[in-house]
Formats: sequence, structure tokens, C-alpha cells
Amino acid sequence: MRIETAIVGGGPAGAAAAASLAAAGRECVVLERTREPHHKVCGEFVSIETQDVLTKLGLDLRALGAVPIDTVSIHSGRRSVRAPLPFRALSVSRQRLDAALLEQASAAGAQVRRGVTVQSVARDAERWALRCDDGAVIEASNLVLATGKHGLRGIAESRDGSLVGLKMHLRLRNAAALNNNVALFLLDNSYVGLELVEDGIANLCLVMARDIAARVGPGWAALRDHLATAQPQLAAYLEGAEPLFDKPLAVVCPAGGHIHAEAAPAVYRIGDRLAHIPPFTGDGIAIAVTSGALAAAHIAHGLPPCAYLAAAQACTRAPIRLAGAISALAARRAGRAVLMAAAAMVPGLIGAGARATRVRGPALPMPDRGDSYAPPPRFFGSGSRP
Ligand SMILES: Cc1cc2nc3c(=O)[nH]c(=O)nc-3n(C[C@H](O)[C@H](O)[C@H](O)COP(=O)(O)OP(=O)(O)OC[C@H]3O[C@@H](n4cnc5c(N)ncnc54)[C@H](O)[C@@H]3O)c2cc1C
Repeated sequence: MRIETAIVGGGPAGAAAAASLAAAGRECVVLERTREPHHKVCGEFVSIETQDVLTKLGLDLRALGAVPIDTVSIHSGRRSVRAPLPFRALSVSRQRLDAALLEQASAAGAQVRRGVTVQSVARDAERWALRCDDGAVIEASNLVLATGKHGLRGIAESRDGSLVGLKMHLRLRNAAALNNNVALFLLDNSYVGLELVEDGIANLCLVMARDIAARVGPGWAALRDHLATAQPQLAAYLEGAEPLFDKPLAVVCPAGGHIHAEAAPAVYRIGDRLAHIPPFTGDGIAIAVTSGALAAAHIAHGLPPCAYLAAAQACTRAPIRLAGAISALAARRAGRAVLMAAAAMVPGLIGAGARATRVRGPALPMPDRGDSYAPPPRFFGSGSRP
């Protein structure tokens, strides 16, 4: 099979790239290794920029059952602060969101192949060859790498994997106490997010150091007991909560922020393969869908991966740096004390932090059949096109 663009990975990044390319009338295939919609480790907080891109792609989040979130409460030890968010966020499970986005890509005209794992990729002078586990070899002029936290044989990587992300869906006894609010609980080298998703289900999601996770041990009971001991305010929510998965979902993830910075890339990296923002911001999906649409715009207009990378770095760098600094401060008891005191003393500080950690793409028309989009010169850093 030969195709103009092959996208490896059908999460929000890959699906957004495919939907955008298809809307622009360009041929593409998305290869996703899972056969069915599935749950993923994620806080499931859908920020305003994510909503903007998803709406442009034709997705109706309310129709998926998404619920509104207007405030954030932050808890450390016995102290709490609560503040309005500077935007209305939404919350919906990734199982629903990712499936709807892939369906949208398919409806727009992208080829979507589920249950196909790309085992390796290689490039000759002209095109990429993708080897799939069903024996197929796909040749493509453009390769979009959207494999999330996973690497791909044939593409060099250096990634930190010092944290583990964990998630459990719960039926809480006092779910109403969480209405319209995302609760963040700060712990040593760890934080926990708790919010409602669709159908009154609560999503508990956290990051912690891998060595601590190994000490806590497997299974929900061990994790619940660890969290309840470490955070008394969280213990009140977990009391009598019914777990809805057999065991917590887990994924290895990097600490702090990270943006890919290869000098002469030949591949369009999007989503987590492009950049990682500390999860407390609830903005990883924004990076995924923004970078997916941005890569599609560059491909649709014949612009190379290096031009795309410069544009993507420009819109992710500042929020990732700030989120990394806040995350490092919150990791230690003394830093948390400073953060909590500042948040209590300065009204508007939490809202300002939430605003400053948003990743916004350039004001870029979504690629559309016949549009004449050319990225402004500042996308390329030096002011001229490569
Ligand atoms: C603890 C935690 C909490 C988070 N909370 C939030 C939050 O509340 N809000 C938010 O916006 N972001 C959050 N994030 C970040 C967000 O989950 C990610 O940034 C987002 O999922 C990235 O999307 P993606 O499409 O790049 O990757 P993914 O969603 O991981 O999708 C990658 C896809 O590629 C597929 N794949 C991998 N390898 C292959 C292969 N070889 N062949 C075929 N398919 C392949 C996988 O099956 C997967 O479906 C959180 C992250 C963590 C770790």
C-alpha cells in the first residue's frame, strides 16, 4: 500500500491530525494498535483550548456526556484553597473522547485501521516504509508519529520515565461534593486529581515516583490505603468508594516538562511524542490536538517537519516551562507551603497560573480544501522559510 501520509497512533493527536488532513482533502491512514475503545491513564480534564480545537473538528463534547468544571480546589496537608477557573473546562472519559475523535476522522474521509500495530519504520531517500504486525508494509511520503508514551523502532528516542501515572474510576459516596470542581491533592513527588466524568463516575488520577509505586504494591486496596494515609482530605472521598476497574491503570511517564528538539527531523512528531506538560495542568490533550492540527496544516501546504517543529515548539515552550517550575516547587513540603500561602493571600493567583499554563496553537485556519494558508514568518524563528 502507498499513501501520502501515515499516522502511527490513534489517540487524540493522531485522530486530530487525520481529521484535519481528511478535511483538507489529503489522503491519510491512521494505524491504531487497540481494536476497541479503551480507558487510558488521564485526568480527563478537557481544557478550553482542547474544546476549541475539538469543536473545529466537529466534535460535540456535551453530546458525549461531558460535564462542566468551573473551579479548582488545591489541598496540601490540612490546608485547602479553592478558586474559579478562568474558563469553563469539561470532563469526559478518554474511552469516549478518543473513540469519538477517531470516528470523526473516519467520517471526514481518513482511513482508520484499528488492531494494527506498527512494529518498525525505516526511511529511504523518498519515503517511509512501515512494517505492521499483520504483515502489511505501508509506504508513505509523510510519517506522523503519534504513539503517545510509547517509542517506535526506527526512530531514535531519549526519554525520562521516572514517574508512573495511575488511574481508577470510582463510584463515590459523596460524589455531589465534587460537582463542577477539580480537586488537586499535593503530596511529596506526587499529586492526585479527582473530578467527575460522565454518568456520575469519579476519575482519580495521579503521578508518583516509580520507586514509591513499587513500594505501594499492585492493586486498588494498596493504592487507596497509601493515598488515604498520605492525604486526610482525600481519605474522606475514598471512604466507601467502589472501584470500577479490576485494578488501577498504569503508564510510565516523564517527570517535569519536555519538548522534543531534534535539529533536522524527518518525522512530524505530535502529542506526547512532541512534548510533555506536567499533568496537573490538564493540558496534554490540548498539546495533542493542537499539534495534530498544526502538523496537518503543514503537510497540507507542503511544509517540512522542521517548519512544523519550530511552530509547535513556539506555542508549547512557555507553558511547559512554567508548569515544570510549579511542579518542581509542589514536589517538596517547603515549596508546597509557599504555594499554598501565596494562593491564599493573592486572590486571582490560581486563575492566573491556570491561564499561563494553557497551550494555544497559532491562529491558524484549519486546513480546508482550497484555503491558501501560509504560516507567518515567526513560525520559523529566523523569520524566513527553510
Ligand atoms: C497521570 C496523567 C494525567 C493526565 N491528565 C490529563 C488531563 O486531565 N487533561 C489533559 O489534557 N491531559 C492529561 N494528561 C496528558 C494526556 O493524557 C496525554 O498528553 C494525551 O493522551 C496525549 O495524546 P496522544 O495522542 O499523544 O497519546 P495517546 O493518547 O497515548 O495515544 C497514543 C496511541 O498510540 C497507540 N500506539 C502506540 N504505539 C503504537 C504502534 N506501534 N502502532 C499502532 N498504535 C500505537 C496507542 O495504542 C494509543 O492509542 C495526563 C497524563 C497523565 C500521565
